[in-house]
Amino acid sequence: MWPLDPPLIAARDSYLACVSSTQDRPRRARLLAATDAVDQAATRFRHAVQTGRVCSLVTDDYQVPGIRATEAVTWTYRNGMVNTGRGREIYQQIMAAPPYERCPLCGHGIVRTLDHYMPKSSFPALCVTPDNLVPACGDCNHIKGEKAPASPETTLLHPYFDRIDNVSWLGARVIRETPPRLEFHVKPVGTWTQELTERVRHHFRLFGLAMRYAPPANSLINDIRRRIAALFECGGASLVRDYLHDEADTRLATRRNGWEGVTYRALAEDDWFCSQGFTTC
Ligand SMILES: [Zn+2]
Repeated sequence: MWPLDPPLIAARDSYLACVSSTQDRPRRARLLAATDAVDQAATRFRHAVQTGRVCSLVTDDYQVPGIRATEAVTWTYRNGMVNTGRGREIYQQIMAAPPYERCPLCGHGIVRTLDHYMPKSSFPALCVTPDNLVPACGDCNHIKGEKAPASPETTLLHPYFDRIDNVSWLGARVIRETPPRLEFHVKPVGTWTQELTERVRHHFRLFGLAMRYAPPANSLINDIRRRIAALFECGGASLVRDYLHDEADTRLATRRNGWEGVTYRALAEDDWFCSQGFTTC
């Protein structure tokens, strides 16, 4: 949902780094024998994700030859990447990629883990493939769980390959209640295909983004109410509107679809809020 550049780490290098610390010699030999197959699986996965067809991937094609799925995940991902070994450096490097440590799946939570875009239990050959490892907050990681895409429309956005932040797609409207509050939604974008529109909506719904953005946005409204009242005293609704637009522009310049900038913009564009709504905060 919020784009990130793909890690500059080859799938083969990541796999070899993760299996190299395996102490058991016969086990290490079995893992090394699967290197080409793992590398080829990573290539197929990248092609599928770039063409929006990961939902058609077959789990049988993403097993590690000669090694059961649970063992492959334990030996390469858990032992070789999460807990120790050279793979740990790769794990930390991918975790550190998002600006301000913000989760690219929701744009809000703090990165705590790596999420497997294609679940490691079903696609063990991709369990240490950098393209398949997405920095995520705990909430997003928990919500997504072991879900694999079931159709093109329910394929979650991949931060490395689905770059939708060149347009404004996050909207919010002021609910004229006491106190006023915001409701967030996905705005239709004319240049998007129907499939992409459905994917963005699915992503937005699955991760509960409307419910996750509303509390901090409503808290922000409360925080700025005194300032707005003072501005209104000096220059009326137009001065309030100018202030809100300035705040929105500053934030949207760096994060076009960040909830904070969108909050300021929605308030600025609501005549009721600028003229009297803020008094009910
Ligand atoms: Zn998140």
